[in-house]
Amino acid sequence: MKDIQMVDLRSQYERMKSEIDESVKRVLESTAFIKGPDVEAFENELGSYMGVRNVIACGNGTDALQVAMMALELKPGDEVITTNFTFIATVEVVALLGLTPVLADPCLKCFNLTPAEIEKAITPQTRAIVPVHLFGQCCNMEAIMAIAQRHNLYVIEDTAQATGADFIFSDGRRAKAGTIGTIGCTSFFPSKNLGCFGDGGALYTNDDELAARVRSIINHGMRVRYYHDHVGVNSRLDTIQAAILRVKLRHLDSFNRARRKAAESYNRAFQGIDGLVLPESSGWSTHIFHQYTLRVTNGKRDALQTALRSSGIPSMIYYPVPLSRQKAYESFNFRHGSFPVTEQLSREVLSLPMHTEITDEQMNFITENVTNFFRNQE
Ligand SMILES: *Cc1c(COP(=O)(O)O)cnc(C)c1O
Repeated sequence: MKDIQMVDLRSQYERMKSEIDESVKRVLESTAFIKGPDVEAFENELGSYMGVRNVIACGNGTDALQVAMMALELKPGDEVITTNFTFIATVEVVALLGLTPVLADPCLKCFNLTPAEIEKAITPQTRAIVPVHLFGQCCNMEAIMAIAQRHNLYVIEDTAQATGADFIFSDGRRAKAGTIGTIGCTSFFPSKNLGCFGDGGALYTNDDELAARVRSIINHGMRVRYYHDHVGVNSRLDTIQAAILRVKLRHLDSFNRARRKAAESYNRAFQGIDGLVLPESSGWSTHIFHQYTLRVTNGKRDALQTALRSSGIPSMIYYPVPLSRQKAYESFNFRHGSFPVTEQLSREVLSLPMHTEITDEQMNFITENVTNFFRNQE
């Protein structure tokens, strides 16, 4: 059996090698490394897939979040509400721009920011909400958009982990994660569901004026060359990455189906194990399993991880430390007692290997090892 990895990028590349190599070679021979024709073609193709009017490619997902906040003209003192249980990028850019991060506890079962906790965090200084569609499943966007409308707030979706997931409205209508809020931000980091071979990101919006501001900001704040209308940044998607992403976009739905299939096998194998809680699927979203994340509720999470590691099975803790406890953000004085769900999740979560190339043999080996661990606890 091949070594088990959290994410097997090599086997995935080998499967698409001829398509990808040919695309990269075309860029190399064109030497149009910045703003080459593949960038615009990728933006258009991704726009059709997502069903959104404007896609603006940029350097990475963290920049996408920063540029979104710059384009919305958020000012120092403005409060931005997001989840305490996520990757650092959101509060990082909030802090860099001199804005004030306000953290909220997520849902214990689906790991996502909840409308009720958002409402509690709103003050007269609140300007924006950043729902993060964690592990591949959407936050309750219908309820979040209603709150935003009521309080006149921007909604900046962080869809770095949910490219391709559908949000399902109560009337049955569907929209892709990232296309529902004021603006959506995503990442094409190699291990994301749609990943390139380096750094990459994009912003989504149906607001043409906002899109024009974003497009200017990612390119030094200029619309006309050497005339600078905004303070900008340098954050463009390389042509080589766009060419790779055009190939991978054509496989995205089948990639996401492979992940869902693996998650279903895990669910079947782990059903009814005492001390193990399976990831819950919300009724309002499809799940594309960026991560397959269990909760180990008998206090044996770290012991399980050690046992798996000794059998050659990798696993990861996303995320071991609540944002409110991160050293770099101490000056915001987040109140430690006020995030019981985040604290619990950081003690209980464990993500198992999840990718598009996982074999039945590997799945069986993983599920047997997990099942045996709990059997031996009895
Ligand atoms: C990966 C990720 C980001 C940042 O993306 P980069 O491209 O690595 O900058 C932001 N938010 C979430 C939730 C992520 O998972």
